[in-house]
Amino acid sequence: MDDCLFCKIVSGDVPASKIYEDENSLAFLDISPVNPGHALLIPKEHYKNIYDTPDELLANIAPKIKKIALAVKEAVNADGINIGMNNDPAAGQIVFHTHIHIIPRFEGDGHNPWSSKKYEEGEMAEIAEKIRAHCNQGEL
Ligand code: 5GP
Ligand code: ZN
Repeated sequence: MDDCLFCKIVSGDVPASKIYEDENSLAFLDISPVNPGHALLIPKEHYKNIYDTPDELLANIAPKIKKIALAVKEAVNADGINIGMNNDPAAGQIVFHTHIHIIPRFEGDGHNPWSSKKYEEGEMAEIAEKIRAHCNQGEL
């Protein structure tokens, strides 16, 4: 992908503070961190987000999320770690190359990753039923 920022980081055309690299994946520091040590883990191959990333690649990446999380936690002496992924603009995705945020957290750092709402009467059961139906359709 010629116009993809993260592909350019993989190729070395755009510099980044790389912290981990192997055959399939790369991790580097986010340029605008929630807290210092905020890292991004990406597959080297270009996929847009979670929807088009092959299952095998996601399975390959999963243990590296843990590895980087532990490394970041130790390195910056974090009290906790948030792991997140933005998929689609409505969810805050800005860079359209699959990436996972690994964010060190500190007691009282004031960051609120998400606010919460309340379900209307019966809404929770209704939505759960719809999601179950999609999970069971075999399309996923
Ligand atoms: P998204 O909102 O798409 O999940 O996250 C993209 C992330 O990429 C943002 O947190 C943003 O700070 C980070 N980012 C954007 N441009 C660059 C860059 O040139 N270098 C690095 N290291 N991170 C970047
Ligand atoms: Zn890319």
